[in-house]
Amino acid sequence: MRPSILYPLFTPIENLKGIGSKYAKLIKSLCGEKIIDILFHFPTNLIDRSYSPPLRDAQDGKIWTGIVTITEHQKPQSRKQPYRIYCTDGSSELVLIFFKVYADSLAKNYPLGSRRAISGKLEYFNGMWQMSHPDYVVSPEDFSKLATQEAVYPLTAGINNKMLRRLITESLHFLPDLPEWLSATSLGDTEYISFKQAIQRAHSPHRIEDLMPNTAARRRLAYDEILSNQLALALIRQKAKQQLGRSFTGDGHLYQQVISALPFTLTAAQQQALKDIQQDLSQPCKMLRLLQGDVGSGKTVVSLLSMLSVIECGSQAALMAPTEILAKQHYETISTLCQNTGITVDLLTGKLRAKEKREAYARIASGETHIIIGTHALFTEALTFKDLGYVVIDEQHRFGVNQRLSLSAKGASCDVLVMTATPIPRSLLLTAYGDMDYSKIGELPKGRKPTQTVVMNVNKLPDVLSALSRKLAQGTRAYWVCPLVEESEKSDLAAATERYEVLQQYFGPQVGLIHGKMKENEKDAIMDDFKQGKKTLLVATTVIEVGVNVPEATIMIIEHAERFGLAQLHQLRGRIKRGNESGTCILLYSYPVSAVARERMSIMKQTEDGFYIAEKDLELRGGGEILGTRQSGFTQFKLADMAYHTDLLMKARDDVQQILKTDPKLESQRGQALKILLYLFEQDVAIKTYLSG
Ligand code: ADP
Ligand code: MG
Repeated sequence: MRPSILYPLFTPIENLKGIGSKYAKLIKSLCGEKIIDILFHFPTNLIDRSYSPPLRDAQDGKIWTGIVTITEHQKPQSRKQPYRIYCTDGSSELVLIFFKVYADSLAKNYPLGSRRAISGKLEYFNGMWQMSHPDYVVSPEDFSKLATQEAVYPLTAGINNKMLRRLITESLHFLPDLPEWLSATSLGDTEYISFKQAIQRAHSPHRIEDLMPNTAARRRLAYDEILSNQLALALIRQKAKQQLGRSFTGDGHLYQQVISALPFTLTAAQQQALKDIQQDLSQPCKMLRLLQGDVGSGKTVVSLLSMLSVIECGSQAALMAPTEILAKQHYETISTLCQNTGITVDLLTGKLRAKEKREAYARIASGETHIIIGTHALFTEALTFKDLGYVVIDEQHRFGVNQRLSLSAKGASCDVLVMTATPIPRSLLLTAYGDMDYSKIGELPKGRKPTQTVVMNVNKLPDVLSALSRKLAQGTRAYWVCPLVEESEKSDLAAATERYEVLQQYFGPQVGLIHGKMKENEKDAIMDDFKQGKKTLLVATTVIEVGVNVPEATIMIIEHAERFGLAQLHQLRGRIKRGNESGTCILLYSYPVSAVARERMSIMKQTEDGFYIAEKDLELRGGGEILGTRQSGFTQFKLADMAYHTDLLMKARDDVQQILKTDPKLESQRGQALKILLYLFEQDVAIKTYLSG
């Protein structure tokens, strides 16, 4: 249950005065549903309303704020003419101009002979000061309220700044005094600011600098958010560690068979990762480990070998892939490696006929199947295992954080290994997984040839086509990647279908097309054709990012490479590193190319080190351009910005460790306050699963 002290902040915005259902809807889409969402909507600019010289000395174009006396109303002669109100500040005359405004309301707001405080943009026109539609008109007593710095907020059509400011001012009254959850030394900043003060300050900037992410107020709020994230993950982690799991130590008979049949020896990094995992599996507590390794670093083999301890103990293992194509590919790899060992593998996909499915279900329920491979449907279907002991999730960044957490919560006493293909910078790793155990395969198997990457303007297309044509004739296969087709961007993107048609005219029927809008079975069919060489040039949207293995494919052309993020480019290029031939990756760009895009392509040219690329990616994304992270399902912070606040992340991690060491159940005074923090930032998974139970 949410603590009652937070009720005001979670009040629906409809409860604000005079908001009306039309505005409520707009505000919801702009900020969110609750008062707290409005309070977390921060200004991004300032209007200076302190400029207030006598009009005689004022400058054209400035926002002027001052007190005037109304001298005359001049009604329009026709509908096209404006309504004019003449006034003076004593030094000069000023005419206020209004279009399409009711005379009644003007008479009420600007009574003849009265003094009014107004604010708006001054223009010098035909030898006279004028101001059209003043931003504000109030009584002279409220002049001092006007003549300040006005926060300017991100807006949406139908909401103006004045209205939003009014709602925010009202929302600020809902702010309770919350108990302090930070320790005195948490932030290490000299100035102490409470949560309430920090919110208030964030909404009343005095200088442009006050809008920056590194002000004391913003840092405090960013820290609160990061701390809640780290605490939630750590609580989940702590609970998982306490949960009794199973201890799997096999006798090694299957392991010996499989490893001796491998056509290669494991790299040192693979051996180390495998050892980490086997060690976890042998412990009686629940395992939750991340296996990080670049595309082609050999994670699948490692995961299979680790499953063998579990199977030797008589239990079952499951491998969950993000797509059906990948599930099928894993199935092929793993069943080949398990040949003649007596290990039985079943593939569960949506394509199975009812009878096949029933039979597979029966084999899984009876324990006849040792390894079950499928998509996430594995966990939603009413499938019963005889004794599932171990789940491997091949993630490839397709599952969201919550899905991941709920899965490991659901998997009862199962040990869980999450595999991810894109190297993730340490800071992102922390925000997405907390201080999770992880193993890293930081080297590729020996003998992999380096990929050559070239950057070219799209006007070199004819050269590319003739070179490609020679290569295809020699039996090489190639990918041609086009950016995702999105409705709004359709017009200026070389849509995959268009490119497909052009390439088909040039190369004939050997060209295939695969894109995200296709049905699974259509995608599978095309992929099969490509694997078998019936198609040799595959035009694709980024759907191929998801790990399909075709060793003969050694060429990749990426069109509009300037639009892709670094991690994505790296991930794509990994597709042509599957074979023994060295690959060629051609980055085709079109103008305009931003400086960042140029830098990205140049990094791609220089290096294939995924971990380096990942760090660079984070760095280049900088000031809040978090496209790459959003796509990969990483935590979205509302208040924190990883381009500025990574130091806070490290602090929060240490802070959380300290907290849980001394107060694992959050019972102390600070612990109680921290629970409020969790509710404040709606860390529901953590709260529901682990604090209540
Ligand atoms: P990942 O899942 O990390 O992308 P895979 O496990 O699919 O990588 O391995 C990529 C390819 O490399 C596979 O064809 C696999 O058989 C092969 N491979 C894996 N480990 C090694 C190794 N140590 N030496 C040589 N080839 C390997
Ligand atoms: Mg793989």
